[in-house]
Amino acid sequence: MLTRVKSAVANFMGGIMAGSSGSDHANGSDLPQRFPYVRPEFLGLSQDEIECSADHIARPILILKETKRLPWTTGYAEVINAGKSTHNEDQASCEVMFVKKKAGVQFTPNKTSSTKRRSSLPNGEGLQLKESSEADGITFQYWALFDGHAGAGAAVVASKLLQHHIIEQLQDLVDILKNSAVLPSTCLGEEPETASANSRTLTRAASLRGAVGAPGSPSMPQARFFTEKKIQHECLIIGAIENAFKEMDLQIEHERSMYNISGGCTALIVVYLLGKLYVANAGDSRAIIIRNGEIIPMSSEFTPETERQRLQYLAFLQPHLLGNEFTHLEFPRRVQRKELGKMMLFRDFNMTGWAYKTIEDDDLKFPLIYGEGKKARVMATIGVTRGLGDHDLKVHDSNICIKPFLSSIPEVRVYDLMQYEHGTDDVLILATDGLWDVLLNEEVSESVTNFLANCDPDDPHRYTLAAQDLVMRARGVLKDRGWRISNDRLGSGDDISVYVIPLINGNKLS
Ligand code: MG
Repeated sequence: MLTRVKSAVANFMGGIMAGSSGSDHANGSDLPQRFPYVRPEFLGLSQDEIECSADHIARPILILKETKRLPWTTGYAEVINAGKSTHNEDQASCEVMFVKKKAGVQFTPNKTSSTKRRSSLPNGEGLQLKESSEADGITFQYWALFDGHAGAGAAVVASKLLQHHIIEQLQDLVDILKNSAVLPSTCLGEEPETASANSRTLTRAASLRGAVGAPGSPSMPQARFFTEKKIQHECLIIGAIENAFKEMDLQIEHERSMYNISGGCTALIVVYLLGKLYVANAGDSRAIIIRNGEIIPMSSEFTPETERQRLQYLAFLQPHLLGNEFTHLEFPRRVQRKELGKMMLFRDFNMTGWAYKTIEDDDLKFPLIYGEGKKARVMATIGVTRGLGDHDLKVHDSNICIKPFLSSIPEVRVYDLMQYEHGTDDVLILATDGLWDVLLNEEVSESVTNFLANCDPDDPHRYTLAAQDLVMRARGVLKDRGWRISNDRLGSGDDISVYVIPLINGNKLS
């Protein structure tokens, strides 16, 4: 076991997150690809340009062409890694989407996505119904970044299909959400039709439980059984996004028997709907808002370190997931056999602090979470704990599955765009970890603020130039066979992708 783990650590240090060009062939290589490898559609690159962009030595920065426009004059730039994988495993998509009300669909309280049939899986075609009028549905803006690992397959699939899962989840909500545009503070339970429907449901449910009028039960005020939790409209949108991520992950799981969908990916998306930005993150990409020079974090990263307690608790509840080769306990360093019977510091799932315990045989197993910072891994294998795909990922040279420890569910944060006045230099920045590994939030904020201050405020291309500037600062320049950034620090050797989204344009639209 120790040899196997050592080998795994050697293979993955820098890690599976560092990718591997050969891993495209690791699983399902005889099957056709779900989608061919591409760069973001909105870049409008030719095949020749895609090939030129994959130069790991020159690492050209790709930007949006003058002729291309994204919603809100969003800026975008990207660069490939310094050679850790053949392909740029980051992917991006950005579109204006239309959600058409489902014909004949009536709102039913407490309906869950589990009632949907698998045969209605989005295939990415025919769901964007541009010919429909606004009266038939609602429009939302969509930006997305995916950071692939162990192949670009899952990231490419997610970049093509996740938006359609969001549409599918929102379809049943069109009527409710359109009403919310008129009455933003109204809650579901206060809508006459909904309240009436719920009352019927609750009466029936309460009656079935024998709670109302059951022989021997104390007399209770009737109103008690008609109370209903007040659900804000934005919570419905958050739920729709969460379910869309889950459905996307299930689709990848389902389709991997028919297609070669390599690896997994993190996902960071933004949906702008009815005056609010919904930022959903599963992985270690990051979103920040810069408003009047102030930094507002819009995501947090999900890594073995930040999710230690969730992972340890799962392993504690289901120890068979550890294959009798790992321990869910954390120690400050690897425990050695000669330390049996001695006292050592440890942390369990229910602890944020440390305590001493006597070392036993079980404690000699390899720790579930090992390593620090960017080198922290779950079972010596993976450095992110949320995302899509990875259904076939196993601990090196073993049958121990990693997927049960990974979550596809994003954290969703909401920013009410209407609540603030925004200037032309106020922006939302989305970027993969290639940027954040080498630049602090403060450095990014200062760079963007200074850059935009020196641009023509009427130049619609200024946000793409700002994105290009950020990518350049994180990649750096090639010196003595290494990439260097300011203060002679190491530049990022990872794929780097950056959106700079002006917030003033969102204000203008609404
Ligand atoms: Mg990355």
